[in-house]
Amino acid sequence: MGKVVIIGSGPAGVSAALYARRGGAEVTVFSKGLSLSGLEKAEKIENYYGLAEPISGAELHARGIDGAKKIGVEFVEDELLSLMFNDTFTGFKITGKDHMLTADSVIVATGAYRQSLNVPGVKEFAGKGISYCATCDAFFYRGKTVAVVGAGVYALHEAQALLPHAAQVFMLTNGTEPVAEVPQAIRVCTAKIAAIEGGERVEKVLFADGTQLKLDGVFMALGTAGSTAIAKKIGAQLDGNHIQIDAHGATNVPGLFAAGDCTGGLLQIAKAVYQGAEAGLSAVKYLRTK
Ligand SMILES: Cc1cc2nc3c(=O)[nH]c(=O)nc-3n(C[C@H](O)[C@H](O)[C@H](O)COP(=O)(O)OP(=O)(O)OC[C@H]3O[C@@H](n4cnc5c(N)ncnc54)[C@H](O)[C@@H]3O)c2cc1C
Repeated sequence: MGKVVIIGSGPAGVSAALYARRGGAEVTVFSKGLSLSGLEKAEKIENYYGLAEPISGAELHARGIDGAKKIGVEFVEDELLSLMFNDTFTGFKITGKDHMLTADSVIVATGAYRQSLNVPGVKEFAGKGISYCATCDAFFYRGKTVAVVGAGVYALHEAQALLPHAAQVFMLTNGTEPVAEVPQAIRVCTAKIAAIEGGERVEKVLFADGTQLKLDGVFMALGTAGSTAIAKKIGAQLDGNHIQIDAHGATNVPGLFAAGDCTGGLLQIAKAVYQGAEAGLSAVKYLRTK
């Protein structure tokens, strides 16, 4: 029938996997696991159907994955770096730190929006020199000086996407050391960021130690790729910080669906499970018509 890849193993992703697998699709869940799930911090859950006694978020997460494995869902533990179309635009390419998968349909279930840098200028210059997608916007910075904010593998991936276009690429790690080795062509600055300033557009980054860096663009890549960055890269419409879907979990990109906290609204397990079911069924319907 075809292959569905689901990004995220929280309640939305696992529910989507159950429905897509039972619908006959080959299903892989690609996820960082519990570590980035809303369930990680949930000590006790008792407002979900069937829980006479409260259980921890971690336990619920493990039970969900066990159930899905029993019906043949495959799990790949990795951090997503980018979701793109394949070369022929007939499907999707999912690139992680250690794995590369292809899929006929993808369901994004990556949880709630993750905050970007909380300093003056970040909101003001969004779209005016502050970007959340190097692959989408690198071309606009040909021959210019740009910086990527972040210290993780995702930030490094974004910086590398800018290298062929920009004259100079900085990685601003905001007070931490980079988690991986950074190629020499990328200049690392570990000072804490105090503000982003400019006029009509971004012109400089001010650091807490009083120094500053003049530049033309800043790319936010803190932590791991969140739902907004994933959606922007592939052209899915957002509603604020949330992925916009129809009543059946479809985004505006054919074959791409979304479910759970990443779509906004009620941030609860019941809603994530419901939307996951819708998205799983919709992905199967999409594969049947492909
Ligand atoms: C402290 C706390 C207590 C809560 N208590 C309750 C409660 O009692 N009842 C209730 O109904 N709800 C509760 N919630 C809310 C509930 O946890 C969420 O609504 C639910 O987990 C959302 O499910 P989801 O599948 O959409 O996203 P998540 O559960 O957040 O799952 C997201 C998944 O995406 C993966 N992911 C994200 N980014 C990447 C990436 N770049 N690469 C690879 N994988 C990625 C993560 O690893 C994770 O597996 C609580 C939340 C918190 C924080």
